Amino acid sequence: MRLPFLAVRTRSADETTSLGRRIAEVVRPGEILLLVGDLGTGKTTFVQGLALGLGFERRARSPSFTMVHTYRGGRYPLIHADLYRCDSATEVFDLGLEELFEPPAVSAVEWGEKAFEIAGRDYLELQFSWHTDEDVRDIRFLPSGRWGDRMQEISAAVNDWAGA
Ligand code: ADP
Ligand code: MG
Repeated sequence: MRLPFLAVRTRSADETTSLGRRIAEVVRPGEILLLVGDLGTGKTTFVQGLALGLGFERRARSPSFTMVHTYRGGRYPLIHADLYRCDSATEVFDLGLEELFEPPAVSAVEWGEKAFEIAGRDYLELQFSWHTDEDVRDIRFLPSGRWGDRMQEISAAVNDWAGA
């Protein structure tokens, strides 16, 4: 069965971190996560969890000023990009993400909608949104390309996370 998307709700920043941490256990080299959502919806928080799950000790920070930061020394290198300040397709292209999005790296891109084109066919889009409750966030996982076949696995990881 191909799942069209998966919806998850987190109720604190810690929950979003632990979700990212759990997802880190299923990501594979070369895979790309595109994080989409307004400021403050939890994209960086999720990447912090991803970094922890990949075995990085140092906390992931928002790379807003450098735009791209590579974490080395974990299970796989983690490319963390934040395209908030990129105003044009040319600017995004000039970051050279295409070369960085290669195995064994795992890539997580905030304002990921600006990287749809360079990501190619296969990526997992994560849509972050606010909720009326201050600490509640809705996160949707939308597969593109080969990720369609991975959703069972993502779903199992999320169920496992929710039950923990
Ligand atoms: P973004 O990268 O999308 O701009 P951040 O992760 O930097 O967002 O910030 C999210 C903010 O919201 C943090 O201050 C965090 O503590 C707070 N927060 C509250 N509830 C949640 C939640 N459920 N998930 C993630 N962050 C949350
Ligand atoms: Mg951010």
